[in-house]
Amino acid sequence: MHVSREVSFRALHSHRGMLCEPKHPHEWRVTLTLEGVPNSEGFVVDFRAVKRIFLRVVAAELEGRDLDSIFEYPTSENIARWVWERMEPFFPLHSVEVREKPHSSAVYFGPCVG
Ligand SMILES: [Zn+2]
Repeated sequence: MHVSREVSFRALHSHRGMLCEPKHPHEWRVTLTLEGVPNSEGFVVDFRAVKRIFLRVVAAELEGRDLDSIFEYPTSENIARWVWERMEPFFPLHSVEVREKPHSSAVYFGPCVG
């Protein structure tokens, strides 16, 4: 079964290269989808733990930051992969979706799928 938790952080970035946009802020919305078998109480995961770990290993590093100083190209695609690498040691991830704007997103399914 797949279960999802949406979390978010706020950060700035700009685009250069293929796109050219000056620095601007976003609320980055991240959907963490986990895969597992529900336990005897019917839960795959404790969502509170997902949020807690996200705050510790992702938001603590990205919240309020200028993503240009962390990523060569701070795109939703690259951030999705980065979030996966941070969260994967803690949870059985199925996918990480990152939305820079409500209408566009990047979904990473891990290194085996790309
Ligand atoms: Zn942007």
